[in-house]
Amino acid sequence: MNDAVPDLLIVGGGLVGLSAGYAALRRGLRVEILERERAGSRASWAGAGMLNCRPWPREGSAAPDYHDLTLASIPLHEKWAAELLEETGIDAGFMRCGALELYPPEDDTPSGRNNIERVMEGCHARNVRAERVSPQEAKALEPSVNFDGAFTAVHFPDDAQVRNPRLGKALALACRQRGGVLREGIAVADVWIENGRVRGVLDEQGTRRPARNVLAATGAWSAQLPALTRLAPRTAKIEPWRGQMVCYRLPKPLFRRLITVDARYLVPRPDGVLLAGSTMEHVGFESVTTAEGQAELRAFTERLVPALVGVEPEQGWADLRPGLKGNHPILGMVSGVEGLFVAAGHARNGICLAPVSGESIAALVCGEEPPVPLATWLPRAAQPI
Ligand SMILES: Cc1cc2nc3c(=O)[nH]c(=O)nc-3n(C[C@H](O)[C@H](O)[C@H](O)COP(=O)(O)OP(=O)(O)OC[C@H]3O[C@@H](n4cnc5c(N)ncnc54)[C@H](O)[C@@H]3O)c2cc1C
Repeated sequence: MNDAVPDLLIVGGGLVGLSAGYAALRRGLRVEILERERAGSRASWAGAGMLNCRPWPREGSAAPDYHDLTLASIPLHEKWAAELLEETGIDAGFMRCGALELYPPEDDTPSGRNNIERVMEGCHARNVRAERVSPQEAKALEPSVNFDGAFTAVHFPDDAQVRNPRLGKALALACRQRGGVLREGIAVADVWIENGRVRGVLDEQGTRRPARNVLAATGAWSAQLPALTRLAPRTAKIEPWRGQMVCYRLPKPLFRRLITVDARYLVPRPDGVLLAGSTMEHVGFESVTTAEGQAELRAFTERLVPALVGVEPEQGWADLRPGLKGNHPILGMVSGVEGLFVAAGHARNGICLAPVSGESIAALVCGEEPPVPLATWLPRAAQPI
């Protein structure tokens, strides 16, 4: 088995690559995953694991949009978490914990109020439960959180979270248990293509590794495979967006729901771990924390949770989101090259979108319909954005 040419060779063992591997193995394909570092170690480890959907009403056509992908992925998370627990004994910590989104006084303007109305309309149209609540009502739901100053809030009872580092471990183990080959410490230099067909990949040691199909699931580094960026130029626009996180370890959780304010959030784990995130920085491939970023996240946490004033976080970290402006992610087969697939550019939502991305690629490789039609995300020539 290990010496056979794989049906699907996946470059990148983040949650997106591992999900594709898992979905392909479940369909009986031979799978090999090549990961430069350790599987599930980069953005997929560093992220907060929020699984949420805040849809706006559909624009113009009825074509699937980004929120359709999200809404297809969250139930897959729930299903996979149960099955992975059974298969591997690892609990990925999927939990419908709910969320409270707070709107600061700056949003109390006609356009701010209109935005909130649009989210409410979008949620209603797609059966996402969402309820406007006053700061007092929010306080009744989460007494440890300070809602003073918020002009309104929205309660999303079905928002969920997953323990992404554990999900990575569970997927890696499940892939191996199902006969997949996961090789760590192997860096791929490029995709190997001959006569309009993928033949495999070339690794950085100069070894050709054959495969029937190749998936680039290379996260923030997706613009570094020369043949891929030439054939699917939009992949060249994937760039690293740094996000920092601060992590507290408390004896027990102070609240249950995700708390979100614009792009900042608090994610309480049931064992007392509390994550505060995140920054959004364009600093190339520097995945280090800064004193300023960590201090901002601490100040944000202390404003929202007075009990944490002066409490030292246990640690902080930073990693690189696969950033992509405009329609994201890039998902599907590269037109004009048989057997070459991309699942990359998931930006701030790759943990949430990993299962639907993996299922989509595995379905395409097997000639099946993906869970959501992919026209919007196909890796074709650069689209105007
Ligand atoms: C601070 C922070 C908070 C976040 N919070 C959330 C959240 O709450 N919810 C959410 O949905 N998303 C969140 N995200 C985003 C999410 O983490 C990413 O979108 C997602 O992890 C991308 O997954 P990936 O598998 O594409 O990338 P990665 O996890 O980065 O994996 C890509 C892998 O490919 C490997 N690789 C790259 N090039 C090569 C090569 N040439 N050869 C071999 N291997 C290669 C890398 O080593 C890496 O392991 C967050 C991100 C950050 C940084």
